[in-house]
Amino acid sequence: MPQSLKNAREQLLSISHQLSRLGLNRGTSGNASVRVSNEAGQTGFLITPSGVAVESMMPADMVWMDFAGNTEFGKQPSSEWRFHLDILQQKLEVNGVIHTHSMFATTLSTLRLDIPAFHYMIALAGGDSIRCAPYALFGSQQLSDNALLALQDRNACLLANHGMITIGETLEKALNITQEVETLCEQYLHALQVGKPFILSQQEMLEVQEKFKGYGAWKNSAKVKSNS
Ligand code: 13P
Ligand code: ZN
Repeated sequence: MPQSLKNAREQLLSISHQLSRLGLNRGTSGNASVRVSNEAGQTGFLITPSGVAVESMMPADMVWMDFAGNTEFGKQPSSEWRFHLDILQQKLEVNGVIHTHSMFATTLSTLRLDIPAFHYMIALAGGDSIRCAPYALFGSQQLSDNALLALQDRNACLLANHGMITIGETLEKALNITQEVETLCEQYLHALQVGKPFILSQQEMLEVQEKFKGYGAWKNSAKVKSNS
């Protein structure tokens, strides 16, 4: 991910604004991070500051951290830096992490249920369910450990009585998954209010995952062709 620290600060702020505009985070709820190296070439990540509402955040408020947990002097990283660090350290294909307290994901998380394959778009989260990580105190190592288990082979998970986490190859991809998961949570909640939704079989979900390979790829190949 060869982008400068300055660009990454602006990108992280822009994603935080988008999360707020889309109604996925309000006030100081939620946080985000992006993998980037510092000026000295050390690998690490930028993370949103703790307890600052997005309206008051500036690019310079974004906090650089390394994988030993060292923090840019004079700044306080999100209280959830542990799961951001653990995810980025353990999943090398991931460059962006988003955490929200969005309405429907958070409401569902209080039921402490995994979301089954009630809709084929569940496959977007990487499998045939979206797991709900067991409850642990916000900002704790236990919460990070629980989240990492729930994110095994997945791009998203719920956090019991808290919210959701999404991960992506880029921050934009993580944002896209966040929006889709929030929609799925809204739909699942509606369905639960009326009855017991039918669940797609393992075979049906494998077919969806197969069909998702290359879904939307025409757009990138069109870009490559028009550049050549
Ligand atoms: P921070 O402001 O420290 O990022 O905390 C928000 C949050 O969502 C904690 O889980
Ligand atoms: Zn939170």
